Amino acid sequence: MHPTTITFVSLGLTDRDFVEQAMQAAAREYNCAVVLKEVHLDITDFYDPVRRQYNADKLLRVIDGLDFPGSDKTIGLFNVDFFIPILTYIFGQAQLGGRTGIASMYRLSNERYGISGNGDLLSLRFTKEIIHELGHLFGLIHCHTPGCVMQSSTYVEDIDQKDAHLCTKCRAALAMS
Ligand SMILES: [Zn+2]
Ligand SMILES: [Zn+2]
Repeated sequence: MHPTTITFVSLGLTDRDFVEQAMQAAAREYNCAVVLKEVHLDITDFYDPVRRQYNADKLLRVIDGLDFPGSDKTIGLFNVDFFIPILTYIFGQAQLGGRTGIASMYRLSNERYGISGNGDLLSLRFTKEIIHELGHLFGLIHCHTPGCVMQSSTYVEDIDQKDAHLCTKCRAALAMS
């Protein structure tokens, strides 16, 4: 039996320091082994020129199609604007109880909203987004506990309102799964 392994998939789009911070946080939060794989993927086919965004459903499928022997969960890391047909944009998405998720830092930077940049804040937001999507992979649904990382986030301010951690209720649900 091997320990549960989470694979972080870097396409070279995200800051290495941010990725490492998120990996450490994920390893602590889920008590898992976390490994980093660098892949080269041409994602231009997933760009929608009308919406000027990337199709997150298609990107999720591409990441899901990558094979990482020994890996239980995979999260693809992006810095592009994701959409799904029914929503204006999303920060990330994941298969509930499944194997694969994706997260983007594109809409997490202050600069995106005309505010001066803050690397630490951006890194923390990206970590929270990744911990959230990983929670879905581990079967957790959205949570209403204030501060819980599994609260849903529509705006970047919502991400700032929550911690990078699971609440006790989610932690208990995780232990039972
Ligand atoms: Zn969610
Ligand atoms: Zn919770």
